[in-house]
Amino acid sequence: MNTNTNTNLTNYHSHCSFCDGRAPLEDFVKAAIEQGFTSYGVSSHAPLPFSTRWTMEREDVPPYLEEIARLKQKYAAEIELYSGMEIDYLDEDSNPSISYFRELPLDYRIGSVHMLESLEDGIIDIDVSKERFRVLLPLYFGNDLQKLVNTYYDKLMRMVELGGFDIVGHADKMSYNASYCQPDLLEQDWYNRRIHEYFAFIAERGLMVEINTKAYQTMGVFFPNIKYFPLLKELHIPVLVNSDAHFPAKINSGRTDALKALKEAGIDEVMELHGGKWEEVCICDTLFVNH
Ligand SMILES: [Zn+2]
Ligand SMILES: [Zn+2]
Repeated sequence: MNTNTNTNLTNYHSHCSFCDGRAPLEDFVKAAIEQGFTSYGVSSHAPLPFSTRWTMEREDVPPYLEEIARLKQKYAAEIELYSGMEIDYLDEDSNPSISYFRELPLDYRIGSVHMLESLEDGIIDIDVSKERFRVLLPLYFGNDLQKLVNTYYDKLMRMVELGGFDIVGHADKMSYNASYCQPDLLEQDWYNRRIHEYFAFIAERGLMVEINTKAYQTMGVFFPNIKYFPLLKELHIPVLVNSDAHFPAKINSGRTDALKALKEAGIDEVMELHGGKWEEVCICDTLFVNH
């Protein structure tokens, strides 16, 4: 790629009205073109074995792929557009490694955990507000935060082990809610041992980790937490900055701050999709002139 035109304007974690995004897919693509993005990927929430308000149904998948194909063609001269999906690791039967997902003609896949099994009441969405999370903890998880955190990382580790995806989505997102219940969580040895083990396993499997900026403007955190950026560097884990946008206005949210934070942690490159291949691209210093 010509480094003179390098703007690091890319995003591969983006929702739309096929799932819980708040605008049609084309609106996100138009916003990306208007803002000068060079490469953009859409990653609607993949179907689960049951209906939710935030995932696609299997019958939505063919029209979703058709719509991306139509827009790829329509805007081919203006932007590289890619088809992705954010796929949940739910259990052994529903996760990125199953043949249904492997056989979909996608350009890339994000693997995420949003839901955990409760002690007795079935599957609970833990990707909720911190206040709601604090209510769920005693209601469904026996008020045992350490156990819940361990269950979360057990699921993520199993997802990484099974594979079938390219990017680990918001790698430690639950830590924000868990820290609300236990403010010194990220200082605790057992937690940091868990995180080290997790990222070492991700590195071993050669997966990419996104720096998810969805909550940066409102809550001031990246996922994974900025504290672990030096660890990503130490383990040579390829990273990319994704905004997890649900609104077209948010596609660029927190991107420059994340790139700057990566640079400060000694990471000089991010992954971008160009010509259908992931490549390492330098983080452009001129991005920070006015920041
Ligand atoms: Zn997610
Ligand atoms: Zn998402």
